[in-house]
Amino acid sequence: MNPLLKTNFEACTKCAICTEYCPVSEAWPPFLGPKQSGPDGERQRLKDASFYDEVLKYCTNCKRCEVACPSSVRVGDVIALAREKYARGSFSPRNAILSHTDFVGSLATMAAPLVNFGANLKIVKFFLEKVLKIPAWRTFPSYSQGTFRNWFFDKGPSQKAFARRLSFFHGCFINYNNPSLGRDAVRLINALGLGVDLLESERCCGVPLVSSGFFKDAAANAAVNDQSIQKALLGAERVVVASSTCCMTLRDEYPDVLKLNNENWRKKVDLLPRYIYRLLEEGLSLKFKPTPMTVAYHTACHMEKLGWSAYSIELLKLIPELKIVLLPSSCCGVAGTYGFKLENSQISQKIGAPLFAEIAKSGADLVVTECETCKLQIEMSASVPCENPLTVLARALDDGSGGDASP
Ligand code: SF4
Ligand code: SF4
Repeated sequence: MNPLLKTNFEACTKCAICTEYCPVSEAWPPFLGPKQSGPDGERQRLKDASFYDEVLKYCTNCKRCEVACPSSVRVGDVIALAREKYARGSFSPRNAILSHTDFVGSLATMAAPLVNFGANLKIVKFFLEKVLKIPAWRTFPSYSQGTFRNWFFDKGPSQKAFARRLSFFHGCFINYNNPSLGRDAVRLINALGLGVDLLESERCCGVPLVSSGFFKDAAANAAVNDQSIQKALLGAERVVVASSTCCMTLRDEYPDVLKLNNENWRKKVDLLPRYIYRLLEEGLSLKFKPTPMTVAYHTACHMEKLGWSAYSIELLKLIPELKIVLLPSSCCGVAGTYGFKLENSQISQKIGAPLFAEIAKSGADLVVTECETCKLQIEMSASVPCENPLTVLARALDDGSGGDASP
């Protein structure tokens, strides 16, 4: 049997530790939790498909159960693959819009001022809730006028001057919503003396498609990214990623959920803060100016799964006068597009409530996290600005450039 098609649910020892860590079962008891929905449910589903329960769609794919499991059962994957195999949902235009980020993003960036203005009109929000079942009270990410890739096409030629190169997987959020984070990443890499390439062709990593049940579209995106990453690594020493979710998806969801064998490049895809840390260990250096402010570090769920928060925290400690508060690791509740769906929205806010209270208690000027949708959720629900650690590092760089890599 192809190992890529096999889940390891048989390794479950029924200890129920995972259920203690599931943010959904705690906030919403009808979801029985990872043990019952994952390994226990799988044994039943294999006997009779009618045991499949639609309640599995309430799993956020946060992977906290997998981090907690002492037997390394890939519980979130068991649930995701059960949804792929057994769910018989009808087509939802709302889910298609929320999950096809490249299609929607490329249209929205062409008319960004209009889209951003329209998305905030009460009448539009009313329509979105009544017709598409997207909560009217939720704030939407604004779209950028022009994509990160457009900006990089001008910047690209200057990058060829560097002998050592990294290929940057920017992801949808940087490309369509937050190009300044991409510019921060380029600036940090250049400050280390390395140049940046983009993948020849990059698609959304696929995680929003998986969570909305569009597995075939996610696999198609994965196939394009697979080819591009292989090609990029012929000239670049690593493919680096700013988003913890994109990074986890490329490395782990591709083989475990999308059945794509990435063995030949998996270890060469890295989260950018982790790779910067490695470059500093190698002897390269970055100089930072004093930045007297307090930041609260939030460990996003997929960052917890990667286990790499320490790299970002250690880099932030290099900034003089920056005070860092470590927030207890807990889910913010948004889980990508999960919190944008009316039927999940109250569960989503209930999951995030303890984190929002901790942020308020921290008195931080800024929350930092590597996840783009955590940023949206925290800014909306905790009313504190939130940035990727790369942005904090780039703003504090003492390289005489004035803090902006924009042309
Ligand atoms: S992935 Fe998250 S929401 Fe889903 S069962 Fe595991 S802990 Fe619960
Ligand atoms: S923590 Fe792991 S071994 Fe324990 S019940 Fe959950 S899946 Fe099974």
